[in-house]
Amino acid sequence: MKPRTKFEKTVAASNEGLSAISPKAVEWAVKNVVSHIAFRTSGHKCTCSDCGGKFDYKGKGKSVRCPHCGHRLQVTDTMKRKCRETSYFSTLEAIDGLQVQRVFLLNVCYRKGEPMRTTCWEVCRLWLGGDGKTAVTSRARTIGYYQDSFNWMTDIELRQMSDVHWVISNTYVYPRYSVTAGLRRNGMRDRLPDCHPMRLAKALLSDHRIETMMKTKDRKAVAYFVSNTFELDRCWQSYKVASRHHYRPVDYSMWCDTVRLLERCGKDTRSPRYICPINLKAEHDRWLAKVNGMEERRRNRERMQRAKEHEAEFYRDKSCFFGIVISDSDIEISVLDTIEAYKEEGEHMHHCVFQCEYYAKTDSIILSAHDRQGNRIETVEFSLKEGKVIQSRGVCNSNTEYHERIVKLVNDNAHRFLEARKTA
Ligand SMILES: [Zn+2]
Repeated sequence: MKPRTKFEKTVAASNEGLSAISPKAVEWAVKNVVSHIAFRTSGHKCTCSDCGGKFDYKGKGKSVRCPHCGHRLQVTDTMKRKCRETSYFSTLEAIDGLQVQRVFLLNVCYRKGEPMRTTCWEVCRLWLGGDGKTAVTSRARTIGYYQDSFNWMTDIELRQMSDVHWVISNTYVYPRYSVTAGLRRNGMRDRLPDCHPMRLAKALLSDHRIETMMKTKDRKAVAYFVSNTFELDRCWQSYKVASRHHYRPVDYSMWCDTVRLLERCGKDTRSPRYICPINLKAEHDRWLAKVNGMEERRRNRERMQRAKEHEAEFYRDKSCFFGIVISDSDIEISVLDTIEAYKEEGEHMHHCVFQCEYYAKTDSIILSAHDRQGNRIETVEFSLKEGKVIQSRGVCNSNTEYHERIVKLVNDNAHRFLEARKTA
């Protein structure tokens, strides 16, 4: 891609000016971003993946220090003799007033009994100008199944920015980094928050809120809000209040959810009483239950409204069956004769007879079976078309011990429904 704009021309020029990665950075990456293992066989014979040295370790610990090279190793019980691991990592550098994040692919090969072999390839560079403009210089991507596969024969040059570049650059940063004066002034110094380094840099240039958080060293908040700007817009006022009260939530995603729930409940989202709970999880769950209750009541009102629109038809079609009671010595089965009765039946039995608007079905009748004390047992649907029971269900749609008896009882009385309809 030929550099066209002034910014692209500066990037292309600076791209040539970068020097090779320092051996110290590679050393850091080998130490910190890939695993180091002790191949252990037969319970105690260990081989160090780093230096290839052999030693005995019988302990139960998950990690052990190699007596030969002194590296800390994760004990892995395996018969494998070879192991390969790759990982991305990056460095941050400032050059010609531009910020650049250089992304490297580290490839480590462990072969039992030999020192580990590492190779390190630079993949791409993300560039950020003082005005927030971005560009990428990269090796060419190869066409194929893997998105992040690069052709190592090509040069790192100006190319079209793609999602892949953003994804692979969301990785570890070598802690000895340098940034432009602007970024440094806006708070990018010391230990970085656990988020995308380039998104952070970009946000620091354009968003004073991220800058404020960086300056108060609230790294957890920065890490969350850099990738959740939508939540930042919503919760910024609450954050300011909470921060003034030195409140630091254990989990920002849960805290933002809580703020939203408070809003839904009509509570003051700037009051420390609500937004600085000691037990965040408990408060979150409490407000969530409140909102769910509100939702349920609203849905019920709507359902009832819809039901009322069907009320006239309901009485026209069903009133001829009202008053039919079928019973034996223990059980009494009666026709539900109001829409409220459907609602109550559904609520008590925890099934959908009301929600699914059975009262509006013209070719069936719903009956409630209860014992002599009035305790509900099952809800019965009798089909006028088929002249028999098509379903009968207990609490939460389960069957009860009376199931067969109820079905038989209603079916034996089927003629009463059909007669009632004829006389209507
Ligand atoms: Zn070793």
